[in-house]
Amino acid sequence: MVEFDGFGPEKIIKLYNPKLGVKGVLILDNLSLGPGKGGIRMTETVNEEEVSRLARAMTWKNALAELPFGGAKSGISVDSKKISREEKDEIVKWFSKSLKIVIPSLYVAGPDMYMAEEDMEIFAKANGDMKSCTGKPKHLGGLPHELGSTGFGVYHATLTALKFLGEDVRKTTVAIEGFGNVGIFAFKFLSGAGARIVSVSDSRGMIYKKEGLNFNELEKVKQGTGSVVNYKNCEKKDPSKIIEVDADILITAAIPDLIKSNDINKLKFKLIVEGSNIPMSEETERVLYKKGILVIPDIIANAGGVISSYVEYIGKDEKYMFKLVEEKITKNVKHILELSKEEKTDTRDAALRIAKKRVLEKCKTCKV
Ligand code: NAD
Repeated sequence: MVEFDGFGPEKIIKLYNPKLGVKGVLILDNLSLGPGKGGIRMTETVNEEEVSRLARAMTWKNALAELPFGGAKSGISVDSKKISREEKDEIVKWFSKSLKIVIPSLYVAGPDMYMAEEDMEIFAKANGDMKSCTGKPKHLGGLPHELGSTGFGVYHATLTALKFLGEDVRKTTVAIEGFGNVGIFAFKFLSGAGARIVSVSDSRGMIYKKEGLNFNELEKVKQGTGSVVNYKNCEKKDPSKIIEVDADILITAAIPDLIKSNDINKLKFKLIVEGSNIPMSEETERVLYKKGILVIPDIIANAGGVISSYVEYIGKDEKYMFKLVEEKITKNVKHILELSKEEKTDTRDAALRIAKKRVLEKCKTCKV
């Protein structure tokens, strides 16, 4: 069930194609700051409730990053692993053409789970407008998420938080949950800055090596064998054990609800940076705050992807994108940390207060 409150959602468009047997939904959560920006998720299980929660997260994320976008998200209920490339193309074309009524004036699409740069190319061409979506391949003037903007932002969020804690990155140990787009780049940049990455997980397992893992070697193992568990000379455990690793920092970069309320006493980290979306509930974040574990919330830490989308939208290049991701993430993390300290509230509450204020200043229909 979609929940409505004083911020939205403003519009919901439900789509159905009987011939393809496919349903889709677009949720425009709050458009006070500009056209709704948020990716298309293609999974068998995606539903209106999930899309609306993600659309709301985009409202806050865009407001915090001071981008001229509202919050939106869309979903197509299909298991992309069970269909052919041609079938996927047909579905993406149908979805794009059906949403022409709101694109790009009210919605700018982008990739999310199981939607990559080649899908964005099909989407943009079917729509007939290159501004219909971001995350397109470079030859179409795009800045694909594959450039690593989100992991780069997560890295800067970590550096800023460490500075706030008075810690030297070169003396820290790090565990990274997930070795996909976000996890790989977070590893690359953090190890490049001198941090020791002692543990990494993927869907098949978790590996630990006290002396530190080597980035190039691990990437080769992941590419060659499909999993980090085939890395030599290290301890191996179930992926869920990543939260029990003895390290200073945890970077989350895979599944939702990784840390549950009954896991709190197992954690030894000083700092958790949420590269993934909703790795724990807001209540759990508040308990961690009381325990003195610093959490940098997803709506700030993983905004690199949407900042990159904005740079593509205004037609600027990769160099400008990396500069803007660094500037915005550093400034916002610092701001939230100072506010949280000043007002003695957890970082999520501090971030939400800023986001809500920015939306309310421009919103003509909100009621809170
Ligand atoms: P991805 O598909 O590239 O990688 C996901 C990784 O998680 C893979 O290595 C996979 O093996 C691993 N994984 C799956 N189940 C796991 C488990 N149980 N334990 C440990 N690892 C597991 O995805 P991604 O783009 O890196 O996204 C990761 C998270 O970051 C998601 O929550 C996503 O919504 C969020 N995010 C991504 C971006 C982006 O630009 N890619 C932007 C913002 C937020």
